[in-house]
Amino acid sequence: MDKFNKILIPVSTLAMLGCTDAKDDRPNIIYVYPDQFRNQALAFWNEPEYAEHVAWKADPVKTPRLDGFADESVVFSRAMSNCPLSSPYRGIFLTGMYPERNGITLNCMAERPESSLREDAVCISDVLSEQGYSCGYIGKLHADHPTPNDPANPGHYVSDRRPEWDAYTPAERRHGFSYWYSYGTFDEHKNPHYWDTDGVRHDPKEWSVGHETDKAIEFLRNENGQRKKDAPFFLTIAYNPPHSPYESLDDCMAEDYSLYEDMGYSELYVRENADTTLRKAPAARYYFANVTGVDREFGRLLDALEELGLDDNTIVVFTSDHGETMCSQGTEDPKNSIYTESFNVPFIIRYPEKIRPRVDSTLFSSVDIMPTLLSMAGLKDEIPSTVEGRDLSPVILENGEDCNIPESALYIRNLNGPKDEDGMVRGFFPVARGIKTDRYTFEVSVKRDRTLDNVLIFDDRKDPYQLSPVSYTENPELFESLLAQLEAKLEEANDIWYREEIIKNLKF
Ligand code: CA
Repeated sequence: MDKFNKILIPVSTLAMLGCTDAKDDRPNIIYVYPDQFRNQALAFWNEPEYAEHVAWKADPVKTPRLDGFADESVVFSRAMSNCPLSSPYRGIFLTGMYPERNGITLNCMAERPESSLREDAVCISDVLSEQGYSCGYIGKLHADHPTPNDPANPGHYVSDRRPEWDAYTPAERRHGFSYWYSYGTFDEHKNPHYWDTDGVRHDPKEWSVGHETDKAIEFLRNENGQRKKDAPFFLTIAYNPPHSPYESLDDCMAEDYSLYEDMGYSELYVRENADTTLRKAPAARYYFANVTGVDREFGRLLDALEELGLDDNTIVVFTSDHGETMCSQGTEDPKNSIYTESFNVPFIIRYPEKIRPRVDSTLFSSVDIMPTLLSMAGLKDEIPSTVEGRDLSPVILENGEDCNIPESALYIRNLNGPKDEDGMVRGFFPVARGIKTDRYTFEVSVKRDRTLDNVLIFDDRKDPYQLSPVSYTENPELFESLLAQLEAKLEEANDIWYREEIIKNLKF
């Protein structure tokens, strides 16, 4: 099987040679990424064989299917979402480029016209479709600037909300995804909507995760020719839950909520950094209910894959765009911060018989996902030169190939730039940059006038809950070392902080 994969000729070439009946054994890829699913919300981290790899407790959640999936997978303990916010993550995942290069520096919405996936960016789906894969996208995209392009009402936005956040993505902006069942962003979990491949809108009035899993299973079964019969496929499923709101049974399934409804705060909040006096404290029950619901639906997807005999030759990834602080660090804001609950995401990858199940502590960045998956699909030579991340497939496959192991993961936080007279946000303000290293979390932030705002250092080994920042003035050697590592990373990314010498001009 291995030997066969290595000598495989692209299908397009085979077609040209008239060998169209050759079997295409390249692996399928299923990429599942619910929104706001923190790495700590996985029950297996509390089991001894996993707990020894992390210094913290996991949430008291029930995730039986993900626990079983992890046992068959490489589980990254330190997958980091470089810019832990919805749209920027999606841009990074799709292109292997940091936000400044892929175009998505801020969340996409109508007042931020410059934050949108560059139409000329080469996405993972562009490469895979070019190589003969059938590519499908199901669920939340949130990578396009909303424009007045409602297919049912030309010249109008897709809703009357102002500013508009949701978006319709027309065929010419789908980057090689030939099967489409998606939307921009919309947070009514039991009243979702989607535009299909032909631009027809669907309003199924079902919990979105269950509905999207049904659509994914239909794609796997290929009931209506959703994919080419004899070609490998790349299916992306972007569930919105466990994204907020977390307030009522409109936001999750009652059967999942019932598991948590009688739990008090002392049972729900087992991590040492939780502050249950925060306004959002009651949210945990709904958040965990959504986590369990996602787990069940993900399991249903795995069952369908097995029933169809597709599981052996399919790479399955379970991850998320960013985490959820959930009452840690005294913040009501779930994401877009360097705190581990926001920055660290699940990344679990299964490839039967090709990987050795285990926990791996490599600092795996969102920017590394595209080159790594392309390489695992035998397409190392097709990784576009625009990709800024690293091919970490040798870490996953343990195949002895050379691999440039990252010593840190870059953290990026931007805010709105100034607004013009029409109320449009122009550009972005690069408020903070940081890194996660083997031992530390380090962030420097600036004020609008680009003077120093704050330096944050956490010793994640001694202080896994990030309760006691290390003083940078009292630890000058550590500070200088972390600053040098951050500067090197910013230079590698040719980040605006490097180009405009923001650090060099700071007075510490
Ligand atoms: Ca998000």
